Formats: sequence, structure tokens, C-alpha cells
Amino acid sequence: MRKYLMAGNWKMNLTPSESREFAKQLVSSIKDLPNDVLAMIAPTFAALQAVGEVIKGSEIKLGAQNINENESGAYTGEISANMLLDLGVEYVIIGHSERRHIYKENDELINKKVLFALKKGLKPILCVGELLEEREKGITNDVVKNQVINGLKGVDASEMKNVVIAYEPVWAIGTGKVATPEIAEEVHALIRKTVVDLYNKEIADNLTIQYGGSVKDDNVDGLMGMANIDGALVGGASLKADSFKRIVKFEK
Ligand code: PEP
Repeated sequence: MRKYLMAGNWKMNLTPSESREFAKQLVSSIKDLPNDVLAMIAPTFAALQAVGEVIKGSEIKLGAQNINENESGAYTGEISANMLLDLGVEYVIIGHSERRHIYKENDELINKKVLFALKKGLKPILCVGELLEEREKGITNDVVKNQVINGLKGVDASEMKNVVIAYEPVWAIGTGKVATPEIAEEVHALIRKTVVDLYNKEIADNLTIQYGGSVKDDNVDGLMGMANIDGALVGGASLKADSFKRIVKFEK
């Protein structure tokens, strides 16, 4: 049975000391989760150690916001899988729209990162999603399907239990414009069907597909009520303890 993954992406916010304090607040409020709900937070690299120490033994898992696709070496400013593992990281966000659009990461690089994360035993959250102009041109399904196919190239069926996909329409990220549950559900169903075609129905049925894009405490319930939406990747609202707690403790 697939689980809901409620994840906070803190992006380039909060210093290590601020992150430590905020993580303490979350640990005391996010507990006693139902069996089918997981919670994760992804602080900046600089705060992974501090946050990892605070959430150790709690119900909150540790995630990173990016990874390098190489083992080690001369890659100034980058972070390796071994470094993340050493800090207790379990999940890694790959191909976030800010990485795709600001830092020009393409499907080929994103696929290398997914493969490398899996090889090292990290769980990749592969982010996909269309731009506003792509939605307006009516090519959302083609764009998202291609991102899924290219992102999963070479991923063995046996590794799919460790993969999460996040559908994040770019026009909804940080804009306050949330996709309606129906709009999101249509793309989530397409993603699941794509995974059926690439692998099989069992793998697709067990795959967690998160929605991301202006998820807040007042819209999470409607989104999580949809058949193919299995969690949220949350930016802005994950930086407020009360909001994030309410999101993690959504009601269907
Ligand atoms: C995100 O960064 O993945 C995101 C969805 O941000 P926000 O929730 O702020 O739209």
C-alpha cells in the first residue's frame, strides 16, 4: 500500500540556528501520525546536521534539496550522496522547478541524479511539472509524461519502491495559484498511467505521487481527497509550524 508523504522544502530559508529551533517546534507537534502518513523536511545543506540531530528518533524524516550525480571530486559547491547519507538524509528532491529553470538542469542531468541517488540508497523525489505557457498551449500531458519517462530512464523495476514523484505545476509554485484538486488529479492519473506503461500496475499502484504548488492548510484536504494524490511537497507553508502541522495532519 502506498503512503502519503507530506514534505516541507525549506529552500534557501532559515540559518542553521533558526532551522534547529524550528525543527524542535515541529518535533513536538508532529507525532502520532497514522500508519499511512510520513512527514519529511528538507532544510538547506548547511542546516542538515543541526536538523538531523533534532529530529533523530522522531516521526519526521530528513531530506535534502539537491544532490550531485558524481561520487566525489572536483565539483566546487556541490554535495555528494555520501555526504548526505553521513548526515542521516533519507530523501532527496531532484529536478525541482527552481533547479530546472534557474539552474538550467535538464532531463538528462536529472535522470543521472535519480540513478545515482538510488544506487547510493537515497530515495529520490523526482519533480515534474509544466510551465504556464505549456498549459496554455495544451501540451501539459506531453511535457509531464516526457519528464517522467526521461527522469526514470534506466531505473530498474526493483528500485521503484524507493522512488517518489512530485507533480508541481510551475505556475502554482510560490504564486498562491493552487491547481484545483480536479486539475491536479488529471495529471496525477496520467503520471500513474505512464508508470503502468513503463513498469506494471503493481509498481504504479505502490508509487507515491505528491502534489506541490501553493499547498496550504486550507486547501490540503481537498487535494489529498483525490484518488491519485498521495502527499504534498510544500514550500512557503512549510516554514510556519502551525500550517505545516495542519498540512501533515490533513483530513480526507
Ligand atoms: C515547492 O517549492 O516545491 C513549492 C511547491 O512551493 P510553494 O508551496 O511555496 O508553492
